[in-house]
Amino acid sequence: MKKDYRNYLQTTPDAEGNFGDYGGSFVPPELIGPMKEIHEAYLKISRSHRFIEELRSIQKHYQGRPTPVYHAARLSEKCGGAQIYLKREDLNHTGAHKLNHCMGEGLLAKYMGKKKLIAETGAGQHGVALATAAAYFGLECEIHMGEVDIAKEHPNVVRMKLLGAEIVSVSHGLKTLKEAVDSAFQAYLADPVNSIYCIGSVVGPHPFPMMVRDFQHVVGKEAREQFLEMTGNLPDLVTACVGGGSNSIGLFSAFLNDPCEIWGVEPLGRGPEPGNHAASITYGKPGILHGFRCYLLQDENGDPSPVYSIASGLDYPGVGPEHSHLKDEGRVQYTSADDKECLDAFFALCRTEGIIPALESAHAVAFAMKKAVEMKHGTLLVNLSGRGDKDLDFVVDHYGYGK
Ligand SMILES: *Cc1c(COP(=O)(O)O)cnc(C)c1O
Repeated sequence: MKKDYRNYLQTTPDAEGNFGDYGGSFVPPELIGPMKEIHEAYLKISRSHRFIEELRSIQKHYQGRPTPVYHAARLSEKCGGAQIYLKREDLNHTGAHKLNHCMGEGLLAKYMGKKKLIAETGAGQHGVALATAAAYFGLECEIHMGEVDIAKEHPNVVRMKLLGAEIVSVSHGLKTLKEAVDSAFQAYLADPVNSIYCIGSVVGPHPFPMMVRDFQHVVGKEAREQFLEMTGNLPDLVTACVGGGSNSIGLFSAFLNDPCEIWGVEPLGRGPEPGNHAASITYGKPGILHGFRCYLLQDENGDPSPVYSIASGLDYPGVGPEHSHLKDEGRVQYTSADDKECLDAFFALCRTEGIIPALESAHAVAFAMKKAVEMKHGTLLVNLSGRGDKDLDFVVDHYGYGK
């Protein structure tokens, strides 16, 4: 018998943050108190009428929500099968879905009386979204970033500084994301009364995977209503790219109880050999990373493996606990697209529709293009998680202008 997902969002995760066998909270003793404070504040504040109304107003007047659902008729025609629709998160203010949870986290911080938002960033996308939220709420913002990433991601560093954030350069170890996470947590622990840590995806210890999912749920809720209104039906298939898993869970969470196929698309990079991809669910096995249990790409000692993807927003060795759970339940299916398929989809969407997607989002478009041919009829809804402005120089320098 099919599982009933009607009350799923209210009952999952459980009170300890478990999504089936995944999630939970594996943190050092000194973090237990601060995590509990955030959890309790979230449960109380996020259900208050004032909070809900203020967030709704921000989404409408500042972020530009609802973002449209768009029928990509020429892309569909080029593929020659099912009809492809795009949820345009690239039109959300700052150009990607990440602002959805950053505005939620920022508003929560304001209601909790915090003065400073602290986070790490890898490629800089989370840092930019959080710095935007901090500017909006008049809060201080401290972004921890590896020295290597600071050199690589110059435009995002400039954006964060313009938005008023302070960049803390992390110069130990490999000087990238992992060290930046540790550094951000240390800064937060030094002053948990005045500051709050804001995570960048549906990862980390409880309550973050739940909070970020709830803030991203607006994507799926809007898209489901819009799609019904446009076509009179639900999509036959919904899909999104999966890094940590926030844009995808935002979309998927609204369709769990519907008769739609749901597919998450992981980055296969240069191929399936270890170190060449970041397809955590496809090739990983359960393990613990950054305070939670999930499918994890790991070596024989259980240490996270090095990962790679052409899309820097997707190269994370773990994945959200909820995706790990939905994979085991069989409700969501996971597949992957490699760098080449991603680039082909990137150029195809530019040329057929006049939309330049983020390389992350192009992974989902690549899968949809392949699946549309296979399905022949029906409809697919893709979350276009972000716009590609940030990727232009990289793509053109390495691959030119496409065919
Ligand atoms: C960060 C990012 C992603 C990956 O993060 P998720 O948490 O998996 O959604 C996807 N698309 C864009 C545009 C991003 O910036």
